[in-house]
Amino acid sequence: MSVVQPLLDLQEIDGRIRSLQQEIRDIPQRKAQEQERLSGARETLARAQAELKNAQLRVNEAELEVKARRDKILALKQNQVLLKTNKEFQMYNLEIAKIEGDIDSFEARQLAAMDDVIPLKHRVAEAQAKLEEEQSVIDGYLAELDERLASVKEELAKTEAERAESAKHVDPKAMLYYERLRTKRWPVVVNLQSDSVCNGCHLVQPPSVGQMVRRNQGIVPCQMCGRILYMA
Ligand SMILES: [Zn+2]
Repeated sequence: MSVVQPLLDLQEIDGRIRSLQQEIRDIPQRKAQEQERLSGARETLARAQAELKNAQLRVNEAELEVKARRDKILALKQNQVLLKTNKEFQMYNLEIAKIEGDIDSFEARQLAAMDDVIPLKHRVAEAQAKLEEEQSVIDGYLAELDERLASVKEELAKTEAERAESAKHVDPKAMLYYERLRTKRWPVVVNLQSDSVCNGCHLVQPPSVGQMVRRNQGIVPCQMCGRILYMA
């Protein structure tokens, strides 16, 4: 194991580095997913708020309609006293009665809209509370993820220092070969299964390769994928 063992040690450290780096890449994604879980509660709140606003608008509109008609009646009554004939006076009364009828229906509409406002206010308050509750749970997860990220980064720094130390024990030529392959194939150093099969790409190696691996005097690459072969 003279050549390969230091490489296997290095590879074990690199394996840990890879998973730490992967976790660092994944954490922002996981945070975004947590935030996404609030979208349902946000939509429910937005819907309730929109419906409440709508109901309040209907109350206000009906109120304005009522007010406009009251003003109209007032104006008609002011003119009525100036009228000369009884017939004209009666016509004004009919007009006023008609407008009063309209006022009744707008007031009924206003009351109905006001009846809608109260339960909608409850719905908004409920949706608001639900969102806040979910937000606080998610904030907890997000804080945990931030803590995890900090500790993973710390662990990564330590592992990288460990790697630098371990790399000193690797033969420089072997190191060069390993480093070149590391970005393309993982793992780089693989077991020669049953004395003949590359555990990386599963190509059956010629018997001479098996013999060289067994001798363990230098790097023996797989004939297909170039991974460094070893025998346990
Ligand atoms: Zn191979």
